[in-house]
Amino acid sequence: MIVKPLKPPAPLRQLDVLMQRLPAVHPAYPKLEASYYKRRAGYRGEQSLTFIFNRFFQSFHILQDLRLPAPTGGHFQIDAMIVAPPRLFLLEAKNFKGTIQIDSPHGLLTRRIDGATEQFPNPLLQLESTSEQLQTWAKRMGLPQLDVHHLAVFTHPDHVLQRPEGALLLRPDEISWAIKRIMKGDTPTGRARHDASRLWCKALIDAHTPMPPPPLEQWGLAREQVPGGVWCAGCKMLTARWVNRRWRCEKCDQIAAKGHVTALEDFFALSSEPFTNAEIQSFLFLPQAKAVTRFLQEAGCVRLEKPRSHLYISPAADA
Ligand SMILES: [Zn+2]
Repeated sequence: MIVKPLKPPAPLRQLDVLMQRLPAVHPAYPKLEASYYKRRAGYRGEQSLTFIFNRFFQSFHILQDLRLPAPTGGHFQIDAMIVAPPRLFLLEAKNFKGTIQIDSPHGLLTRRIDGATEQFPNPLLQLESTSEQLQTWAKRMGLPQLDVHHLAVFTHPDHVLQRPEGALLLRPDEISWAIKRIMKGDTPTGRARHDASRLWCKALIDAHTPMPPPPLEQWGLAREQVPGGVWCAGCKMLTARWVNRRWRCEKCDQIAAKGHVTALEDFFALSSEPFTNAEIQSFLFLPQAKAVTRFLQEAGCVRLEKPRSHLYISPAADA
């Protein structure tokens, strides 16, 4: 059972909004497009794990895409985690295309593609560091101790994997087999294990901090440069206008009561910086501020304390 599902990560969501709202002739467009397709491929790799989890791991608690506070400050990320007391499986997804060669369980990863050779750190080493941070965090939270296992999974559909025998460097279709082999001999779930699983999942979900959108400056853009407007679901254009307390498309007359919801989600995906009522008014092409106040309340936006009470912050994307 997936208790914390995968959602599109903030950088992908931001790119999606930018590509939908900026004209294709915008100077930043080619860079945005290249980055978008790269990130989307990685996301699809992680989505392929969702399919495996739903098919083979219904009896375990699974959390995808976690971002937790690191003991030394900042955050650390985990692509997927299977909670199966007395064990815990950490999974790192790698979306490499081409021939992947790893000569020893912790040796460098060599990737060959189109005549080029590149080297990358071994994902199992990356997991060692993640695992240390997770265990420090869990100790601090007073969680029951579990045996942590590390699995690196190569999710690209077009790869050839050359690896040492027995190393937990896997194709997605091998995850179930590898985990069952490790769990062989474990006794069936009892009350204590059920409780341990529940405690871990609750603490992880509570501690998860969604990644904020990255700074727009990296694309040479500011939020006010991104075209505003409310989408018409029929025309797929920013042609809906607020008329008589409803959104009506200027082109096809289609009516939508909640057109602002998607437009606000777009706005929140661009930046985590606080914003004013007037900025939203201008983004939604709204003639009056009163409707904005209601929309922001309904969206779960929080107004800052005095002296910054003219500013709002957006709700976390996947909290
Ligand atoms: Zn329309």
